[in-house]
Amino acid sequence: MNTTKPLRFVIIGGVAAGASAAARARRLDESAEIILIERGPDVSFANCGLPYFIGGEIKQREALAVQTPQTLKAMLNLDVRTGTEAVVIDRPSKRVQVRSVASGATEWLGYDKLLLAPGATPLRPHMPGIDDPRIHTLRSLQDMDRIHAAAANATQVAVIGAGFIGLEMAEQFIRLGKKVTLVEVQNQILPPLDRPMTLLLEDELRRHGVELALGDGIAGFERGAQQVTCLLKSGRRVPADLVVLSIGVRPETGLARDAGLALGERGHIHVDQFMRTSDPDVYAAGDAIETHDHVGRMPTAVPLGGPANREGRLVADHIFRPAQAKPFPGMLGTAIVRAFDVSAGLTGWTEKRIKAAGLPYRTITVNDNHHAGYYPGAKPIILKLCWDPQTGFILGAQATGMAGVDKRLDVIATALAGGLTIDDLAELELSYAPPFGSAKDIVNIAGFAAVNTRDGLLDPVETIPVDPNIQVVDVRPAALAKAHPVPHAGVMNIPLPELRKRSAELDPSRPVVTVCALGKTSYFAARVLSQRGFKVKSLTGGLRATHDPRTPAKLPTP
Ligand SMILES: Cc1cc2nc3c(=O)[nH]c(=O)nc-3n(C[C@H](O)[C@H](O)[C@H](O)COP(=O)(O)OP(=O)(O)OC[C@H]3O[C@@H](n4cnc5c(N)ncnc54)[C@H](O)[C@@H]3O)c2cc1C
Repeated sequence: MNTTKPLRFVIIGGVAAGASAAARARRLDESAEIILIERGPDVSFANCGLPYFIGGEIKQREALAVQTPQTLKAMLNLDVRTGTEAVVIDRPSKRVQVRSVASGATEWLGYDKLLLAPGATPLRPHMPGIDDPRIHTLRSLQDMDRIHAAAANATQVAVIGAGFIGLEMAEQFIRLGKKVTLVEVQNQILPPLDRPMTLLLEDELRRHGVELALGDGIAGFERGAQQVTCLLKSGRRVPADLVVLSIGVRPETGLARDAGLALGERGHIHVDQFMRTSDPDVYAAGDAIETHDHVGRMPTAVPLGGPANREGRLVADHIFRPAQAKPFPGMLGTAIVRAFDVSAGLTGWTEKRIKAAGLPYRTITVNDNHHAGYYPGAKPIILKLCWDPQTGFILGAQATGMAGVDKRLDVIATALAGGLTIDDLAELELSYAPPFGSAKDIVNIAGFAAVNTRDGLLDPVETIPVDPNIQVVDVRPAALAKAHPVPHAGVMNIPLPELRKRSAELDPSRPVVTVCALGKTSYFAARVLSQRGFKVKSLTGGLRATHDPRTPAKLPTP
């Protein structure tokens, strides 16, 4: 670093990663020349808040413009150039060519250190009718304004893609009184999650009138005078006044590629643990990069706001206080979404991801209330935990419910980051008073169940096996079992209080699966039966977590 001449730090992209790097850089070095280049008219705006302005939950548009070039100049002495696009990086001469979006005028800017924080663009695949102006994507405040204006005159809305942004948009359009169809090519909403963990949210969307078209992709659009029609792969036609495409993002890496920087397999900018690209004077951060996964230690790209902000901060640390900069610990992919009264999210790896990677794992699903059941307002929550059977290390968790989902995901994200095991989860001392939690929090319960599984006290199954040799025992009270029968043929109802007396009704030579609503009573029943010599498994998570009303299991009639 040159001590006489101030260091010039040029940042391309002025939102999450770029603005975070600029602010941290200034706090570390008052003398540095920090230039923030942003193609759009806004810097450091809250893209995560865009859906909530469209739906009216956020009332003031200005609330989303977290900073302006003027406030950044006043507060941080940053040279912010909006409406300016970086078009060429000349690495040998350490300079960037920038062009005014309005006038087309270009100039070269020298740099000592450069940060690429260009983010990712929403996918808009080539397909018939895609250019219809009624088809929108959402990334900038201007996209938001267009959708907001179009929604004012729309009755029917189609949202394509039921990921995080798609769900937020569907919820907000319902808030506005629109008729909403949510189209998703996968057979479930929130494709990153294991399907059973999405069912509560799916029910909630339906309950609020969202029409779900699952397992059906978009094939094209047909332009009509009044409406645009979404043509689905199944042949189904969904007419709409307004379409929002939320089917994923593509990293903006043209500049990096043209500059000869190393890219990952999926086209993201490859960086090391300090966010350095293949050129040590050029850093990259945010949605455009590929870092490593914390759980699998393999390359990964996670387009989320939290990582983008922290990566930007790390870049500034590594430039201005390299001795103290801590290497990036890797991505957990912690994410959460809300639709109406239900939230769902994940941290670390899901079961399907672990399975696809062919790694060993065990999993358990537990149900409880988000705080003491006897205290008014207790809401159900479901937590699924995956761990490594050899080491006991936590691999990931998913949660869904009506309250407290964020707290449980964040506790387990912290546990994952700290390399905790299932035994540690069982022992965690979490804050408790009846309005906040339970003496045994659901995180502890997940730990107990995992430890019980490892120790052979519990043998969980995720679905009721379709096998006529298996005796399925519903251990719920008779009235409940009658009112809401287990969707499976040949189920016996023996309520838990009667089980010790009536265990002789079961054939000890045949395996048993115990079933209840939440997975707790069935575990108690399994303990009763296994101590009487039965080979018994228990339905983990109970019927609430595993039962999909669309696909009841059918046994062949004996
Ligand atoms: C609607 C929406 C909701 C979201 N909700 C959440 C959420 O709830 N939680 C969450 O964690 N994440 C959320 N995200 C994702 C999060 O916003 C992104 O992960 C984050 O903004 C990425 O930061 P970034 O700095 O990499 O890119 P961006 O924030 O996209 O910023 C990149 C900027 O670079 C500019 N740029 C690109 N190329 C150039 C160039 N050549 N010259 C000059 N400027 C350039 C772009 O104009 C852009 O403004 C959401 C995203 C959207 C769109």
